[in-house]
Amino acid sequence: MSTSQQSSKFQSKPSFTSDIEFCSECGAILPLPGRDDVVVCRVCSYAIDVTEFAKIEINTKIVFNAREEKQGTTHSSQDIAGPLVDRKCSKCGHEGMTYTTRQTRSVDEGQTVFYSCPACNTKETEYS
Ligand SMILES: [Zn+2]
Ligand SMILES: [Zn+2]
Repeated sequence: MSTSQQSSKFQSKPSFTSDIEFCSECGAILPLPGRDDVVVCRVCSYAIDVTEFAKIEINTKIVFNAREEKQGTTHSSQDIAGPLVDRKCSKCGHEGMTYTTRQTRSVDEGQTVFYSCPACNTKETEYS
């Protein structure tokens, strides 16, 4: 029962684990780790130590967390010029641009709206 379930599982969609499912030598889909700590590739016979993979996964996770913490503490608020408005960037097509308004000298001319794309930093000006 369990064997047929396993084989159909990784044939249709190899979404079992993150990094152990592909052979680092030939890129073939690896069989699921059994009772041993080593998974052997059925294509090139390359043996992969599952415990080594676990170590790598832990290391990358630590690096990711440290990077996220850094970004969170250093405020990059100078990049945000104003509130996001539902406008598409004409350069890169990014949805949502920041905008600031400025009243021009003459009241007759109305106000100028400065749009800024947060993705490619394109500046667009609109007179109303
Ligand atoms: Zn292989
Ligand atoms: Zn853009």
